[in-house]
Order: sequence, then structure tokens, then C-alpha cells
Amino acid sequence: MSDEPGKRRGHALRAAVRQGLVNEGEPVVGLLDVTGVEHAAAALHSAFATPGMTVTHTFAVKAAPLVPVLALLAECGLGAEVASPGELALARAAGVPADRTVLDSPAKTVAELRRALALGVAVNADNALELDRIDALRAAVPGSASPVGLRVNPQTGGGSIGAMSTATATSKFGVALRDPGAEEWVLRAYAERPWLDRLHTHTGSQGVPLELMAAGVRAAYKLAERINRAAGRQQVRVLDIGGGLPVNFGSDVTAPGFAAYADLLRREVPGLFDGRYGLVTEFGRSLLAKNGTVLARVEYAKSAGGRPIAVTHAGAQVATRTVFVPDAWPLRVLALDGAGREKGGEPVVQDVAGPCCFAGDLVAKARPLPLLAAGDHVALLDTGAYYFSNHFAYNSLPRPAVHGYVAADDGGVAFAPVRTAQTEAELLAESGAGLPPLRRRRSVSG
Ligand SMILES: *Cc1c(COP(=O)(O)O)cnc(C)c1O
Repeated sequence: MSDEPGKRRGHALRAAVRQGLVNEGEPVVGLLDVTGVEHAAAALHSAFATPGMTVTHTFAVKAAPLVPVLALLAECGLGAEVASPGELALARAAGVPADRTVLDSPAKTVAELRRALALGVAVNADNALELDRIDALRAAVPGSASPVGLRVNPQTGGGSIGAMSTATATSKFGVALRDPGAEEWVLRAYAERPWLDRLHTHTGSQGVPLELMAAGVRAAYKLAERINRAAGRQQVRVLDIGGGLPVNFGSDVTAPGFAAYADLLRREVPGLFDGRYGLVTEFGRSLLAKNGTVLARVEYAKSAGGRPIAVTHAGAQVATRTVFVPDAWPLRVLALDGAGREKGGEPVVQDVAGPCCFAGDLVAKARPLPLLAAGDHVALLDTGAYYFSNHFAYNSLPRPAVHGYVAADDGGVAFAPVRTAQTEAELLAESGAGLPPLRRRRSVSG
């Protein structure tokens, strides 16, 4: 198989068109580079591998909630970080073992907590009220194998994208550590609960500099040391440092890599790697983003006010963040011809629009690209995380199919289904088709 991600992607785009994966009935598909995912998982393992230290890497399921992807990552030695009953179900369907599953969420219900404790998956409590619930559940159902941690927000500050910044002073996540009395409360909470044996923080995500993420991990590490000193033993045994490594959407270069972040942590928080602590990570975007591509047909090409516009089948339904917050989430777009080959020719400033019925449904605005024509294709690059896997059901556009691919050096490509396209019957059922009419006479009580 080919060693260059751009080459593999080129082979896959041409093969997808040649083999008819995009067609009249399915004019947009997601493509996933299986080799690239394997390489990313291997890079993650080797970056954090430390003699004498137990490291558990989990994949943040929300970044690509697709069972075959979770199963592939599980084969690569990764677990799953889940944040809802649905995500937990996906992880279990993919065969991710309970001892490699972590439940994080700011809004866990009692039922959700009870199930997690019964299954033995690790739970990170978000706040004091949730810890109280866990106290009660542990008393009612003794013998749970679940490690339990507490999520803290070191309030180290945000990055360049407000909605992606989890460690601001007023973030909704975790216990705000710098608030008056908070650290003392945390120390008491651990002292009163000898079984509380993990500490969790997730301070990154797109737009957050690595130094700021490392500062968040250092704050959590220092807190763990304080808890353990106060306990007179290694009460906190595992530090869960979350995910959040930002992704370069500007080129095919993977930067920063996992190694850069792990090396920074070794410098900034050396005690974390001396073997006293186990480590859990929860990366999402950085494992999948660069391994996914949206391929869509150009249905029409037109012009308005002197601006050429390519109307394609890839818009807000598969590139929601890019369409609604274009400055924070710019995507590279490739102009492809009718055979899926990159087009040549002088760049022409044009808009690349999607199929949704609102004017802002553009994946690229005033972008210089070879002029697109009806029957051509476009590819939206680096869309393996939070894009085609996080469909937005606008205009009742169906969830597109996702195909995994393995590309050989000679251009041969093998595809395997990751998700089939949503059918019209599924779409109807999910839209309430078949339910009784609302105006049917019925008795009203209460
Ligand atoms: C979303 C999330 C992650 C993954 O974030 P990425 O930016 O995709 O790496 C990890 N942990 C928690 C708690 C999250 O909410």
C-alpha cells in the first residue's frame, strides 16, 4: 500500500468515481483512509510509550461515531471515550472492552451512571452533584469495577475558537479549580471517598495552543500530587489528560503530531511519566480528521453578480461547522473532473455551494480553483472527524454512505463499507411517517 496520504487519497477519489460509488442516487459520499487511521494510531502509541507506565488511549467517539471505525481502532489497541448512552452502545457494538471505555459527559442521568457502574466502565464525574449520585449508586450496587475520577477545569484559558475552548474561567465542564474554595473542596471530596482513584482534565481542542494544553495537564498533575500527599498514599492512580490536539487543515502535513505534544508534556510535567501514574488519553479529531474526504458531484455551474458558483451535493449537511462558522473551520477543496482527477487550469475565483436551501450554504467562498463545471466533482479534505460522520439533517438530505479504502501504489483501491447511505424508508421512519394523524379525535385528560 502507498505510504503517502495524498497519493492514497488521489487513488481513492479516482477509484470511487470509476467504481460508481458516487452516482445519481448517491451524489455525495465519505471516504476513509484505513491505512492512515492505522498510522495515526501507531503514532499515538509510540509517542506516549514509556517503560514502566500503563497508558490507555481511548478514541473520543463523537469525532467519528461509526462502529467499523471504533472496531478498527480497537484492533489498533485503542478504547473509547463516550459521552452518551448512544456512544456507549456504539463502543460496545464495536467490541471495545469495558476496561478500555471511559464515560465523560456533563449531563449524565442516574440511569446512565447506574449502567456504567454495572458495566465497569470508567466514569469521570463532572461536578459535586454527580459525585453524590455516584455515592448513592455505589452503596446500592456494591462491587462495581468502575474506576471513578473527577473532571477538573484548571481555567488555564481558551484558544482561538470560543466554542472549542473547554478551560475558560466560566466553562461548563468540570470543577472550576481556581474558584474560591474549589481546590479545598476537591481535597475533601477525595479524602471522603477512598475509592476515587482518577483525575480528569480535557483542556484543548481546535485552536488551543499546545503550551496551554500542557499547562492544564500540569495543573491536574499538581492537584493529584496534593491529593496523594494528603491521603498519605497513591490514591489518584490514573491521570486522564483528555484529547484536544489541534489539526492542521491547511496542508497534508500532520502538525503538530502526537510526538510533539508528548515530548512537550515530558518536559513540562516530567513526574507524570515516572511510572507512579497510569495515563489515559481521549484524542478524537487528531486521529481521524486527516484520514477522511468528502467526495461530491457538481450538479450545476452558474454565475451570479459576476461570481462563478459550483452547486455541489456537499454542504451544511456534511460540513456543518465550515458552513456556519467559515472563518474558524476553513476546509481545503479540490476541484476534480468527471473522472475524479484533479483539474488543471488557471484558478478562477468562485464559490463552492452545497445543496441546502439557505444562501449561506457554501463550503468555500471566493476561492481560486480551476473552474468547475457540471459533471465535475469536488473533494473536501480533512473531513474524517466531525464532518460526514456528524450529519446535520437539514432539508431531509440523507446521511451519505461512508467507504473505507486501502490504496496500493499502483493505483488499485479496495473499498469496504463503513456506513450505508440512509434510505428513503429510514428517512421517512425517522421523520414520523406511519404515526397516527395529530388531529384524530382523542380524549384529553389532566
Ligand atoms: C470532545 C472530547 C474529546 C476529544 O476532543 P478532540 O478535540 O476531538 O481530540 C476528548 N475528551 C472529552 C471529554 C471531550 O469532550
